[in-house]
Amino acid sequence: MAEKRDYYEVLGVKKGASDDEIKKAYKKMAIKYHPDRNPDDKEAEEKFKEAAEAYDVLRDPDKRARYDQFGHAGMGGAGGFSGGGFDMNDIFSMFGDIFGGHMGGGFEGFNNFGGRGRRGAQKHQGSDLRLKVKLTLEEVASGATKKFKVKKDVTCTHCHGTGSQDGKTESCGTCNGTGYTTRTVNTMFGRMQQQSVCPTCGGQGTVIKNKCSHCSGTGVVSGEELVEVQIPAGVQDGMILNVQGKGNAGRNNGYAGDIQVYVEVEPHSELTRRENDLIYNLLLDLPTAILGGSAEIPTIDGRVKIKIEPGTQPGKTVRLRGKGLPALHGYGYGYGDLIVNISVYIPETLTKEEHSAFEKMRGSESFIPSQSTKTSFFQKFKNLFS
Ligand SMILES: [Zn+2]
Ligand SMILES: [Zn+2]
Repeated sequence: MAEKRDYYEVLGVKKGASDDEIKKAYKKMAIKYHPDRNPDDKEAEEKFKEAAEAYDVLRDPDKRARYDQFGHAGMGGAGGFSGGGFDMNDIFSMFGDIFGGHMGGGFEGFNNFGGRGRRGAQKHQGSDLRLKVKLTLEEVASGATKKFKVKKDVTCTHCHGTGSQDGKTESCGTCNGTGYTTRTVNTMFGRMQQQSVCPTCGGQGTVIKNKCSHCSGTGVVSGEELVEVQIPAGVQDGMILNVQGKGNAGRNNGYAGDIQVYVEVEPHSELTRRENDLIYNLLLDLPTAILGGSAEIPTIDGRVKIKIEPGTQPGKTVRLRGKGLPALHGYGYGYGDLIVNISVYIPETLTKEEHSAFEKMRGSESFIPSQSTKTSFFQKFKNLFS
């Protein structure tokens, strides 16, 4: 798949562009590269699709935020998955509204687009399917292979997807075998001959003579497939992975749709994720904080002991480099850190002996912070409390 251009660059807007600027920029592009203006111009068609794809992402606050953070990977381009582009047929049903309003009527051409872009080689595209995958943090760390039993349209084995009982076809009566129908419409560019894919033959120019009895001539039947999905290490909650060609089979040997896999990362009982870093809140006992020692902490691959220095203050942070999560392929390198935030537990009840021991320490000089200690303490941890 070709390298995708930056969506902002595609629309020619700045990264912080307002919704209105994005809409205007898209409208300009859509008119410039509109197929009615650029008949049989492949490059214009690609530009037209590219702009629609960029607009689809940037107009949606969620998608835009994801794109800003993860780039194309956040849109489903990560780790061996490639994002499915737009079909010309979808664009007008999706963005028809942008041409409405003040542009008014006489704009019929924009709303009855048909399948011009794929005329001649028209194939029925199978629809996409959606799945949700729940991952533990451990699976995020290692990457995972998940198997799904997917109920979907599969190719009819009796007719091998042709939809024909005996392989015989005949010329389509509706379009006289041309695959498209023509009518004259008024558009903003004047009167135009508009061609639409023939509704009878779907652009093939031929129709099946004797339909396959198993699939009623569609070439697809309801079935099931075991689909294996590779989840790359480092994926984030809310990401969508696109598995190309694993959606519903297309009618009459058309292209299969995709499967969009929504990633949900389950919360970990002890560790919290912040991008690629992991955070653990350690509640240290008072003697260890004062005298030093060690503390056991969880990591993504088992528990480890860390050294506690004598005189450890609450609010201290210990950073275990590289003990976080791996960066998603293509988004940074290496691993995040495990950050241990230390708090100190003050006992709420004491035995008589403990009580008298602490009573003796009251007023002892080492237990009273000096002014400079107070200042540096709160300066050091001001991020924590603000
Ligand atoms: Zn069949
Ligand atoms: Zn036809």
